[in-house]
Amino acid sequence: MDLSSLIPHFCLGCGRPIKKGFLCSNCWQRLSFYDNHQGKCLYCQKPSVDNLTHHFCHAKLALEGGLVLYNYDPVVGRIIRYLKYNLLEKGEKIFRYLIELWWQNNSSPLIKYWQENDFCLQPVPLSSSRRLWRGFNQAEVLAQLLAQKLKLPLVNYFQRTKTTLPRLRLSLSERKKAVQNSYQATRPSLEGKNLLLIDDVLTTGSTFRELAKVAKRRKASQVWYLALSSKPRRRG
Ligand SMILES: [Zn+2]
Ligand SMILES: [Zn+2]
Repeated sequence: MDLSSLIPHFCLGCGRPIKKGFLCSNCWQRLSFYDNHQGKCLYCQKPSVDNLTHHFCHAKLALEGGLVLYNYDPVVGRIIRYLKYNLLEKGEKIFRYLIELWWQNNSSPLIKYWQENDFCLQPVPLSSSRRLWRGFNQAEVLAQLLAQKLKLPLVNYFQRTKTTLPRLRLSLSERKKAVQNSYQATRPSLEGKNLLLIDDVLTTGSTFRELAKVAKRRKASQVWYLALSSKPRRRG
């Protein structure tokens, strides 16, 4: 007997019962792609096409720029929160679906650039205690799927040294403080490496900025990021 037929299915976006899948048709329609042309620089938070770091913001240990797939709207937010605290198997399926859906409807010159320049995909690490408690790191799951899609290798050059409170509950300045010095490189040199950092939610970008600093101190060449979702830049 297939026990899964006994489990009631519900939409991860709104909680309404559905026959199969993860989201009701209403919630699928509400998913929206992030407009990378209306992106932002992660150092001044001001407009920047393709989220490139402005020349005048580009310090020696800075990120080059990045790509975001979806707007962090209520539907995506609920999917990500659900995946953080639930089953890996379901998480993999829905991440794969979100990646395919984006690829069918979007493109970016950055993807070809990363492929031609031998980038390695680096998930944002979780502290080992939190990884143990949760059983998996959702950034790692995402990075694995993206590595397959981009045909680029997955690496693990960093570890988290401090356990901090969940980032979404902290204020901007608390978040900044929490992230400083909380990552370490696991190898003495990253000379010549091109890294693509992967995470599920981009908020202030402090995690990406900190990892870029750690990587470039070990002589990494370029550090870019790819996030599944981010809040769109406020206009005006
Ligand atoms: Zn729904
Ligand atoms: Zn800037």
